[in-house]
Amino acid sequence: MKDCIFCKIIDGEIPSEKVYESETVLAFKDINPQAPVHILVIPKMHIESLNDLTEDNIGAAAEIMLVVKQLAAEFNLQNGYRVVTNIGENGGQTVHHLHFHILGGEKLTEKMC
Ligand code: AMP
Ligand code: ZN
Repeated sequence: MKDCIFCKIIDGEIPSEKVYESETVLAFKDINPQAPVHILVIPKMHIESLNDLTEDNIGAAAEIMLVVKQLAAEFNLQNGYRVVTNIGENGGQTVHHLHFHILGGEKLTEKMC
């Protein structure tokens, strides 16, 4: 989608540090990490947020969950980690292309908001 920063990353117009790629899913390091490990996992299809998941596109989200688990193992997060998806303005979503943050590599704060 035009003017979507994550679609531009998918198209290679904006560089990223990729850690996983399949036909439908891409994962790359967050440019402004909030934890020692901070990875974003996104569908290659432009879906605005979790609110836009439907029976037709839920497959991409399901695959993302398996990629999250695989990346957690690859990045040695066996002691635990957090997965976050922000939705809309009050949720703090700044990029309007569905993405799941993987945060880990240290004991995370108990505060979630
Ligand atoms: P959110 O606030 O949930 O919409 O998260 C958007 C995330 O995208 C933030 O954590 C940003 O640091 C990250 N981000 C924005 N631009 C880029 C980029 N070009 N490469 C990697 N991460 C990015
Ligand atoms: Zn997009």
